[in-house]
Amino acid sequence: MGIFTRPSLATRWPDLAKEFDLERNAPLTADDVSARSMKRVWWTSPTCGHSWQDSPRGRTGQTPRDCQVCGGGGSGFVPREPGAEASLNPGLRGGPIVP
Ligand SMILES: [Zn+2]
Repeated sequence: MGIFTRPSLATRWPDLAKEFDLERNAPLTADDVSARSMKRVWWTSPTCGHSWQDSPRGRTGQTPRDCQVCGGGGSGFVPREPGAEASLNPGLRGGPIVP
């Protein structure tokens, strides 16, 4: 297609290129997108399976963004606290059960 003098995403960031969603971005491929492009493209994470849109630049900057569905990646992700349903156990109310 066009003439690219800048490195493509596939050349510059081969690991990120694996997350490039070929189906949703068709006919674009990681070879067609500049590594510094601001264009929003589709990504699919092999870790969580989510799909989201972000620019190659947003994913390769000083604070690279990860899956936007999981919370934007980087420092923004707050894991959910486990054990929230422990207080819902009704059997503990009223003392020990004597047969
Ligand atoms: Zn995710």
